[in-house]
Amino acid sequence: MEGDRVTRRRFLEAGGGVTGLSLALTTSAGAALFQSRSEVRAAGQRMPDGVELPRSPSLPKRSNSVGFAIVGLGDYALNQMMPRFNQAERAHVAAIVSGNPEKLSRVGDAYGVPRSARYSYESFQDIARDDRVDVVYIVLPSGLHAEWTTRAFAAGKHVLCEKPMALSSAECKRMIAASRKANRKLMIAYRSHFEPHNLQAMELMAQGVAGQLRLLRTEQSYRMGPTSPTENWRVRRALAGGGPLEDLGIYGIQAALYLSREMPESISATTLQPSGDPRFSEIFAQVTSQWRFPSGAVAQLATSYDSSGSNSVRARGTSGALIMDPATNYSGQRMTLEGRERREFRAGDPTVQFARQLDHMADAVRDGTRIRTPGEMGLRDLRLIEATYLSAAAGRTVKLNGDATMRG
Ligand code: NDP
Repeated sequence: MEGDRVTRRRFLEAGGGVTGLSLALTTSAGAALFQSRSEVRAAGQRMPDGVELPRSPSLPKRSNSVGFAIVGLGDYALNQMMPRFNQAERAHVAAIVSGNPEKLSRVGDAYGVPRSARYSYESFQDIARDDRVDVVYIVLPSGLHAEWTTRAFAAGKHVLCEKPMALSSAECKRMIAASRKANRKLMIAYRSHFEPHNLQAMELMAQGVAGQLRLLRTEQSYRMGPTSPTENWRVRRALAGGGPLEDLGIYGIQAALYLSREMPESISATTLQPSGDPRFSEIFAQVTSQWRFPSGAVAQLATSYDSSGSNSVRARGTSGALIMDPATNYSGQRMTLEGRERREFRAGDPTVQFARQLDHMADAVRDGTRIRTPGEMGLRDLRLIEATYLSAAAGRTVKLNGDATMRG
C-alpha cells in the first residue's frame, strides 16, 4: 500500500496509525504502515543500571493506605517511583509484576513484597483475587499501556498509567471505555501537575504575571547514544510511536496547555527522520510544531532525540516572560520572571512531585476525589500528537476543534 493513497480516517482507525502515516509518507517503507501491533508483547528485561534497592522495606503509614501493584520493573519504576513510596502518606507497594524472575525475587525481597504478591505477565490475571492491590501502576513501554490498562480494569483494579497514555487516540478511547465499564479510576502519571514550580507557574500565568500571552516556546531534547530497534524499545515504532514527541515533547505539550489555558485552533509541524541511522529507522529524530491559539498567541514546540540536552519552557507576554529552565526535570527546577525587574521563584522541593502524585491517586481511590490528570487529558494529548504528525506528513496546517479533534 502506498502511503499517499491512504486516507486520514483509515490511519486514525488503525490505532497508532497516524504515527504510521507520517512514517509512511516520509520514508519509502510504506509497507510497514499497518505493521501489526500483535507482535508487541510484555517480556522481561535485565536489571537497569544504577538501581539501589532499599536495605529495609518501608511500611504503610496509614491504616487506609492504598496498595499499588507495579507493572514493569524498569529504569523509571526502580530508580524513581518505587523509592518514592517511602515519602507517600497513603500509598504503598503491595505487589510487583515482571517478566524477569530474578528481578521479582531481588526487588520483592528488598521492598518486602510477599512471594504471593509477585506476579509474572502470565499470572497477572490472578491479581483480580488479590485484595492487597487497589491500583495497578503501568510502567511498561508506551506501546503496551493500552493492553495492560485494559487488563487491569478487567481484573477490577484502578489504574495509574505512565505517560504517554497510549500511542493513539483510538487506544485512549478504549482505555477510558474500559475504566467506565469497570467503574474504576484512571489517572495518567503527568507528574508536573504535582511539582511546585509548575503549579506556581500555572497560578502566575493565570494572574497575568507576564501580561497577555503572546509567545510560548518549549524545548525537550537529548542526544541518544548509538542504538537500534532490536535493542531499545524507545526507537521501535510499535512500542514508542513516533519517538521523542510521545516521550519528551509531551511535557512541552502539557506546559503549553496549562500555561496558556487555551486549546490550539491550528497546528503546523515538521519532522526529521535522517536516513541511514539505526536510531531513526522507525522513529523521528526531531519534531517541531507551531500552534495558534484563539487569543492569537502562538506556541512553538521542539523536541529531539538528536540534539544536546534541553528542558525549557518560556512564556512571553506583553509585559514580561516567565522562564522555566529546567522546567520539568525530576529535580533542580529554576523559574524566573523577566520584565522590568527580574524575579526568581523558589516554589518548593521539586522531588515531592512523585509522592504527591501517588497520594493523589490514593485519595481518588479512597475518598472519591477528582483526578487532576484523568484519561481524558491523556486522550486530548494524543489527539494533538496525531494532528502534529498529520500536519508534518501532509505538509499543511491542521485545524482543530476545541476538544483537539481534527476539523474537516
Ligand atoms: P525501561 O525500558 O527502563 O523499562 C521498561 C520495563 O518494562 C522493562 O524493564 C520490563 O520490565 C518491562 N517490559 C515489558 N515488556 C517489555 C518489552 N517488550 N520491551 C521492553 N521492556 C518491557 O523503560 P522506562 O522505565 O524508562 O519507561 C517505562 C514507562 O515509563 C514508559 O511509558 C515511559 O514513557 C515512562 N516514563 C515516565 C517518566 C516520567 O517522568 N513520568 C520517565 C521515564 C519513563 P520487567 O523486566 O520487569 O518485565
